[in-house]
Amino acid sequence: MIANLKRVLKKYWGYDDFLPLQQEAMLSAADRRDSVVVLPTGGGKSLCYQAPAMTMDGLAVVVSPLISLMKDQVDALTECGIAAARLDSSLSQDHRDGVFQRIGNGEVKILYLSPERIIAGGFIDYLKRIGVSMIAIDEAHCVSMWGHDFRPEYRQLGRLKESLGDIPVHAYTATATDQVRGDISVQLKLKDPNVLVGSFDRPNLIYRIQRRSNKVMQVCKVLDRHKNESGIVYCITRKNVDELSATLAAKGYRAAPYHAGMDAEDRRKNQDLFITEKIDTIVATIAFGMGIDKSNVRYVIHTGMPKSLENYQQESGRAGRDGLEAECCMFYSGEDYRIWKIILGGAEDDAGKIAMSKLTGMSNFCSSAGCRHQAILNYFGQSLDKDNCNACDMCLGEIDSADKPLETAQKILSCVVRLEERFGSHYTTLVLTGSEDQRILKLGHDSLSTYGILSEHKMRTVRDWVEQLIGQGYIEKTGEYNVLHVTPRGWEVLRGKTVPRLLKPAARGKKVSRVIKDSWEGVDEGLFEVLRQLRKKIAGKKGLPAFVVFGDAALRDMARRKPTTHAQFLEIKGVGEAKNKKYGKVFVEAVRDFCGD
Ligand code: ADP
Repeated sequence: MIANLKRVLKKYWGYDDFLPLQQEAMLSAADRRDSVVVLPTGGGKSLCYQAPAMTMDGLAVVVSPLISLMKDQVDALTECGIAAARLDSSLSQDHRDGVFQRIGNGEVKILYLSPERIIAGGFIDYLKRIGVSMIAIDEAHCVSMWGHDFRPEYRQLGRLKESLGDIPVHAYTATATDQVRGDISVQLKLKDPNVLVGSFDRPNLIYRIQRRSNKVMQVCKVLDRHKNESGIVYCITRKNVDELSATLAAKGYRAAPYHAGMDAEDRRKNQDLFITEKIDTIVATIAFGMGIDKSNVRYVIHTGMPKSLENYQQESGRAGRDGLEAECCMFYSGEDYRIWKIILGGAEDDAGKIAMSKLTGMSNFCSSAGCRHQAILNYFGQSLDKDNCNACDMCLGEIDSADKPLETAQKILSCVVRLEERFGSHYTTLVLTGSEDQRILKLGHDSLSTYGILSEHKMRTVRDWVEQLIGQGYIEKTGEYNVLHVTPRGWEVLRGKTVPRLLKPAARGKKVSRVIKDSWEGVDEGLFEVLRQLRKKIAGKKGLPAFVVFGDAALRDMARRKPTTHAQFLEIKGVGEAKNKKYGKVFVEAVRDFCGD
């Protein structure tokens, strides 16, 4: 079976090997055992059902929540020479009849459907009659109320297992929480499912997190590192989107806005411009993203802090789906916390409390001073198996540490203690820097031994350090007024047993090291650009997104190995038999031209 799966992988997709956990997931599908497969974005979930579908008799049915996703998947499969089709409400009756006819003739191998379609009257009986090899549920977290994209129509999918009994059902999601995973099995009524959970780490994403100082300049610096490459810039509000997008366009960047307040037609137009690479940058609210599976997004910038780490993971995760390096930058400010607090409305019910605790978690993440990959993984209950991720501003040494972190942290923590753990960050900072604020004088805090003990530093610097200690769990904010409280870990610092990490704020964002880019090694960048333009031209003619023709990884491999024959072209990672036939000639010619025959 493994050999058979590998053969299919090579023939249709041009891949030689499995990505982590793909083999197990594919075997589960081939063995007809129900499964729940949790892999991060870019983990290769689609192939987990598409490859086994090609080794099995009958039709594989895939349930997917959005027409745009179905369309891209069907286009991508068709490009690989696989008989795929979709049935959705955007198609004409004639087109739908044609699809039913092809299914009747046994000419379709993989069929994409919406959840509404599959449970609509009589369709399940139809599936029983035609012989279905498996049912794959994509974006399966939509079935759970605990997930971030709950869709009531997904709830009905439990009927599939009830009615279709022995046909295996496989659920795929990138959602990391236990609760959602359990809920998926229950709601879909899976029978003893094989639950496979991969690592959520995305080693190809480089995280850089800085305080926002000059937003436009900070964003432009990132864009300048990614000339001609695609990326997303997220803003919290629609107004921010409009302003930033106009500023960037005026500076000559190929950028366009996207938010829910825009006219539907303009929104669709800008999305298309981005997908077809006629613009490089889309400036958007979080309304942009769901249903976008563009694989070569090379950067995602957040110009404000998202409301939770789940959101951050999801939004930043839209970068680098093709496994090649991509950059995720966030520029945050304390202001963002206050804006979210207002937006979230401060409800006192359970949902309101959960939202606030997620917001606090997010804020701690921003101001923490440890490895970003590690912090994200910890949040989702996993940990990194190495000390240095080599892919975040901290581990790359782009941010200098403050001198004497232990002594400074002890000064801050003792000030919290001397204030009897009754005040918040702002007030504590005022005391530490020796402010002559009326309140301090009135309460007599100017006579504390810690008054002015950090007065040689700027207020902003000290405030950052306080936040960093909170982010690392040495101080906790408690109660309605976010009063500071020294945690047991904080007491260890006071006793000198643990040394926290504090940053030298002045050095923030000064130098950005170029990460060793394995995926560029040996790549002729001039040839890559020529091939990229060729891909764009072909995609434009066929009305397809460029990444459906070839992914960036395949283009880089071509620009590295410079194939000049069909046989060599077929060796490129990401070139299967169908693409070799369709595009081999033009790409090989382009390589020859470039290399002067
Ligand atoms: P997900 O749905 O988990 O986000 P995709 O199925 O879109 O991920 O796959 C992400 C990228 O990885 C795609 O470009 C896909 O072609 C590529 N990919 C999938 N499986 C393999 C493999 N075995 N080897 C190399 N690349 C792969």
